[in-house]
Parts: sequence; structure tokens; C-alpha cells
Amino acid sequence: MIPKETSVFLQTYGCQMNVADSRTVESILLDAGFRSVGNPDVAEVILVNTCAVRESAEERALGQLASLSRLKTQDGNRIIGVLGCIPQEMKDELVRRLPFLDLVVGLDEYRQLPYLIEERLAAAPGQPAHVAAKLNRRELYDDVAPHHSGGITAFVTITRGCDKFCSFCVVPYVRGRERSRPLVSIIADVEQLVTKGAREVMLLGQNVDAYQWDGKSFADCLEAVAAIEGLQRVRFLTSHPQDIHLRIFEVMRDNPKVCPYLHLPIQSGSNRILAVMNRGYPRERYLEIIESAREIVPDLALSTDIIVGFPSETEGEFDETLDLVRRVRFDSAFMFKYSARPHTKAACMPDNVPETEKIRRLEALISLQKRISRERNLAQLGRVDSVLIEGVAPKSSSQWFGRTPDFRPVVFSQNGEMPGQVVRVKLGELSGFTFRGHPA
Ligand code: SF4
Repeated sequence: MIPKETSVFLQTYGCQMNVADSRTVESILLDAGFRSVGNPDVAEVILVNTCAVRESAEERALGQLASLSRLKTQDGNRIIGVLGCIPQEMKDELVRRLPFLDLVVGLDEYRQLPYLIEERLAAAPGQPAHVAAKLNRRELYDDVAPHHSGGITAFVTITRGCDKFCSFCVVPYVRGRERSRPLVSIIADVEQLVTKGAREVMLLGQNVDAYQWDGKSFADCLEAVAAIEGLQRVRFLTSHPQDIHLRIFEVMRDNPKVCPYLHLPIQSGSNRILAVMNRGYPRERYLEIIESAREIVPDLALSTDIIVGFPSETEGEFDETLDLVRRVRFDSAFMFKYSARPHTKAACMPDNVPETEKIRRLEALISLQKRISRERNLAQLGRVDSVLIEGVAPKSSSQWFGRTPDFRPVVFSQNGEMPGQVVRVKLGELSGFTFRGHPA
């Protein structure tokens, strides 16, 4: 039996999918009688939810795990566990590198956590780590409502896994096959989150637009979620060009709750590199999607992911990426230099773009995108838009922080409003990428 209110500290690395997974883990543990604490020094159980998608996130998580050995030395009865993508990717290496670990638990094994912790609490200190990291294509955590501690925005995972096997990406190996949750349970989760104070929901999936359940498409899911009373806004992340359907933009156009914002990774502007990446579309198809989307939703904000220095990428092919970025004029972009991930097809290709050249290309791309982002932001000055108040501004306790429907950050003076309220604001000066708003 779990000692009453055993304290747990849970730290999360990586993307919104991992944040959503941590809410699921919290829900499972709180239901089992654990108590959540915000400081690892006072926790009886420390769990680190890890990400393996990018080398940098993996290194950070491994560094944090290594630093936890200090807490284990202080108290040998303390349980330290690692969750998420890294256990799927390198469970044996983890146990070898970090022999003080108690638990190594993969993405589809979270239901077991209370029992695994209970077993460990009862065991003599110094036992080898318990490893549970089998993938389970039926696991959707569908009956586990994500824990919500009162924020305005909540994450709801609607698809898990990925079947695309892009040659650079470890996700299909660590998160397993693509599967969608029943629409009824998504609706139930969102309704419950609204009763707990959420006003904006972010629907999540590795390829959220691939959602399919009992004849319902992602556009149907968007419409159904947007119809929930009390919910102000619906966003979604991440879309894949192969799965995008114009009906999604029609729903966006016709339903003011569905925010006009699309994150659509392009990865490269070169058709040869896109083919080697196994992305499944040429640049022309991507440009066509953007053109149609902007015809249907003229004020659509766009963001993307781009990798530079992919194996064998030539200077000319990199120029094609710059050209695509100039044509599309994204509002923002997540830009990375290539690094090989274990188990992927690209890891078997010669990583032959020199590091200095990767850095040069990345800097050139970032500088171009920064200029475009600023120009697109400057074009918004003077616009009156609705801002959903998320909370107090990080740099001033007398100001609110919120976002426009197209995801632009705004701060403005408080005047009796409350978080969760939508207010009309005129977009004034820009400070970096944040607008100062004025009452409209
Ligand atoms: S679509 Fe490609 S990049 Fe995205 S998760 Fe799947 S394999 Fe990875």
C-alpha cells in the first residue's frame, strides 16, 4: 500500500505532447493518493519526463537526471524515475549510465506507475532499476482525464504516435503507431477542463490533422470541440502537409472559436532533400496548401519547422529553403541544425555538412525569418483584436498578458479584468515580439 500522501515531484522536458503526458501521469498518481510538490528536495518520489526528439533536449534531461544522484545520496529511500521518450529509446544505456535510477518507465506504461512506485518503496534500497517500456498500440489513456491545476490553457492529446517515418525522426520508434482517441472522450475531457477554469484548449497530436475515429475527421473534431459551451478558443498542433484538408480551414473561417493559426512543418525547401527526408510532398504541394489556406482564411498566421544541414544538403538546396521562406513569409519558425538521432534512417547517411557550415546556414535562416517576423508584426500595428487574458504579465504585476487569436503575445494595463476574459485591445508598440495593447 502507498504510504498516505507520498510526495511526488514531476519535471517535464520537451514539447507540448510531453507536457500533456505529464498531466496524464499527474492524474494517475493523484487518483492513487500521491501528493504533488514543486521542489525535488522535499519529494519522496522524483520523476523526470524526458524528450528524445532533439539531441539538445535529450542532453538536458540526461544532465538533470545525473544531477539527481545528489538527492539519492542524501536519502537512499527516495525513488527516482525516468519517464517518456528516452526510456523507449535507450533503456539499457540509461540503467548503465545512471545506476541510481529506481524506475525507467516508457510512454505506454504510465498506468502501472502507482504499483511500480509502491513496490519500490517497499523494496530494500540499492536494487537495480525496474524497467517497463513496452509500446502498446491500444494505449490511449482515454479514460484518464488530464490533471488541470487552473490555468486558462489546457492541452488535450487526440492522437498518439506517428506512422510517417521521416528519415530524421525518432518519434515513430519511441511513440509507436498512430492512433486516434474516440471523439466522445475528447469532448468529455474538454468539458471537464472547462468546468475547472480552462478557456482555451490545444488539441495535440504528432500529426493532429490525421485524426480519424469512427468516420469522424479532424475537421469534425474541431467543430465538435468548438461547440462546447464556456470554451473560448481552440488551437491545434502539429499538422502534417500530407494530412491537411481544406475543410479544416473552412471550419476555421466559419467558427470564431477556432483560432486562425497553423503550424505546418516544411523542413526543407528542396524537393530532393524533402524526398530524402521521406516527407511525402514536394515544395509545390506545400505552397499550394498555403495559397488555398490563405484564400479561405486571409488572416491566417503561419509557423513552421525547418532543419538545415541535413546530410548531403548543398548550398543551392539551402538557397531553395531561403527562397521558400521568402515566398511564404511565415509569422514564426522553429529552426534547427541537423543532428543524427539513433535508430533513424538518416543516422545511417554520412553527416557530411560541416558543423561550421550548418551554423552558418542556421544563422542566415534565423536572420531572414527574424526580419520577416518583425515585418509581419509591424503590419499589425493599429489593429484592434480580441485578446484572451492568460495571466499577469511576466515583467509587470500591473499588466495582463494574453494572446490574439493568431497567437500574437500582448501585454496591457490591468483595469478590473480577470484571467480568462476576452477583451478588445488595439495593438500598439512592439517590444521584441510582444505588442503593447491599449483599450479599444
Ligand atoms: S511526421 Fe515525421 S517529423 Fe513528425 S513525428 Fe512523424 S516522423 Fe517525426
